Amino acid sequence: MYRSAGEVKDVAEWAGMRQHEIYDTTGMNGMKSLEEYLTLAESHHGHICPGQVLGIRMAMLGLRLIGIADPGAHRKRLLTFVEIDRCATDAIALVTGCQLGSRSLKFVDYGKMAATFLHLETQRAVRVAARDDARERAKALFPELASPYRQQLQAYKIMPESDLFNVQTVRVKLKPEDLPGAPHSRVACDLCGEGINGGREVRAAGRALCRPCAGEGYYEPAPESADDKS
Ligand SMILES: [Zn+2]
Ligand SMILES: [Zn+2]
Repeated sequence: MYRSAGEVKDVAEWAGMRQHEIYDTTGMNGMKSLEEYLTLAESHHGHICPGQVLGIRMAMLGLRLIGIADPGAHRKRLLTFVEIDRCATDAIALVTGCQLGSRSLKFVDYGKMAATFLHLETQRAVRVAARDDARERAKALFPELASPYRQQLQAYKIMPESDLFNVQTVRVKLKPEDLPGAPHSRVACDLCGEGINGGREVRAAGRALCRPCAGEGYYEPAPESADDKS
């Protein structure tokens, strides 16, 4: 149902690829089915929801388009950039096997339901973005269901990929320090003394500063409160 030839042809057109490039299913066995991923996602994430269905299908499509049929066997060759920190993100991590802790999952905070999948050996990358009009299509498919949540949950499982996603081939501007593996450098901040891995220091006036000390922090010391004094 999800891999009809017509559908794949559409995807190939968007992605600017020839059909045989993405319709080569040799070694496709490593990828689980949507149903299997849904079951796994429910136990990992705690519930099943439209975002997870989208995330699973987004990742399955993205991996297929960059020629990764068995994510488990491609752990070191795959990078995933997620642009939102919502339910879909957990599902994308599940399907790709990419994790923050192994530096193979990158969170870029764009607030967009989109992700980019990069094959590190071939440098082939596709960005898959959920279409905004998918909600309307879901509503039209299941008008009898009471809530948009239920409409989307059902519809996103069966809608063709071309109705769910826009796909573009992209080039990822990857810095050496963004690659998975051990950090390539470590320096101490000249102000607070904390260690900074992987070139994240800010250099100014001959000093190396961590981002918070350079004024780019997401936090600041709290003013002294009654708690601190007690
Ligand atoms: Zn959820
Ligand atoms: Zn510092």
